[in-house]
Amino acid sequence: MAEKNLDIIPLYEWGMFTEPKPSVVAGPCSAETEEQVMETAKGLKDMGINVFRAGIWKPRTHPGCFEGIGVEGLKWFQRVKKEYGLKVSTEVASEKHVYECLKYGVDLLWLGARTTANPFLVQEIADALKGTDIPVLVKNPVNADLDLWIGALERLNRAGVKKLGVIHRGFSTFDKIKYRNDPQWQIAIELRSRYPELPFFVDPSHMGGNKDYIHEISQRSLDLGFEGLMIESHCNPSAAWSDAKQQLVPEELSDLLYNKLIVRDVDSDSPEWKENIDQLRAKIDVIDENLLYALGSRMKISRQIGEYKRDNNIAIIQASRWDSLLCKVVEKGKEYGLTENFLNDVFNAIHEASVEIQNEIISKQK
Ligand code: PEP
Ligand code: MN
Repeated sequence: MAEKNLDIIPLYEWGMFTEPKPSVVAGPCSAETEEQVMETAKGLKDMGINVFRAGIWKPRTHPGCFEGIGVEGLKWFQRVKKEYGLKVSTEVASEKHVYECLKYGVDLLWLGARTTANPFLVQEIADALKGTDIPVLVKNPVNADLDLWIGALERLNRAGVKKLGVIHRGFSTFDKIKYRNDPQWQIAIELRSRYPELPFFVDPSHMGGNKDYIHEISQRSLDLGFEGLMIESHCNPSAAWSDAKQQLVPEELSDLLYNKLIVRDVDSDSPEWKENIDQLRAKIDVIDENLLYALGSRMKISRQIGEYKRDNNIAIIQASRWDSLLCKVVEKGKEYGLTENFLNDVFNAIHEASVEIQNEIISKQK
C-alpha cells in the first residue's frame, strides 16, 4: 500500500475554485456553435458558475458522429473569458491539443477516460505540459483499473503538474445496469484513502448517462466527501450534438446546486454533536472488542477441530457442514437486520481463515 506521495497543490490554491463545496465545472458536452457556447456560458454565469467546460475535440465511439469543432472553438472560449469572466476548460488527448490550449489561454485541462487508459498518450501529454502550471484533472480510465489511473497521475506529477486532480465518471461495463457507467464507488474511495490530498471531482453526467440520475449521483458524491462536480449543461439539451440525454439547462443546474443538494460538513465543533458522537463511538469500540474476542475464541476452537481432524485422518473441508452452517447464519442474521450479501461476505471470510489455520496444522503433520 505504501505508495510514493504525489506532490499536489491544494484545490483552493489553484485560483479558480473556492469553498464552500461543491466546486463546480459546468458546460456543454461539446462546443457546437459560437451562439450555443456564448448562450450557455451566459446562462451559467448568471447561475453563479465560475468554471466553464466544453469538449473541443470529441472522442466518439463511431466514426461519422460529430467529432468536435476543433481549434475554432478555442476562439469562442476567449470570448467566454473576456465577456463573462469565466475560466474555461476542455479535454486534451494529444500534445497538439495541449499546445493549442496553451496558445489560446485555456485555464484547466482534463484527460478523458479513453486517454487515461493509454500510457503512451498520457506520457505525450505530460511531456507537453512540462514547465507550465496549468491545472489538470484526470478522469478514471474506461476500465476499472485503479493502477492505470494512478499511473497517469504519476506521469503528470513527474512532469511537474502539481495542480492535479481526478474526475470519477464510472467504468464501462457490458452488464445491463441503470447507469451508463458503473460507479464502483469502492475504487474511488480507495483512491481517496491512498491520496487524501488529491482534489476529487465526480462527473454524474457521464456516470448516469441521463439527467434523471444527476441528482442522486451528485448527492452520493457529496455524502462521500468529494469536493467537486463536473456537470454537463447546455442551453438547449435536446438539440445537443452529443450526449443530449444527460445535459441540464443552466436553471436546472442551479436548482440542483442551490436547492436540492445537501452539503454535509466533514466535522462539527458543536459540543452537543461532539458529546453524542463520542458516546456512540465508545459503544462501537466496546462492540468491536467483543467481536474480536468472539473471533479469537472461534479461531481457537477451529484450531482444536483441526488437530482433532489431523489425529483422526479426516479431510479439512466437509462442504455439506459449511453449507448448512451458512444457511443457518443467514437466516438468523436476517433477524438482526443484516443483509444476505453482508453475511455471506463476513462468514466466507471467517471460513477461509479457519480453513487456512487447519491447513497449516495438517501440513505440519509428520
Ligand atoms: C466528456 O467529458 O465530454 C467526455 C468525453 O467524458 P469521458 O471521457 O468521461 O467519456
Ligand atoms: Mn459528454
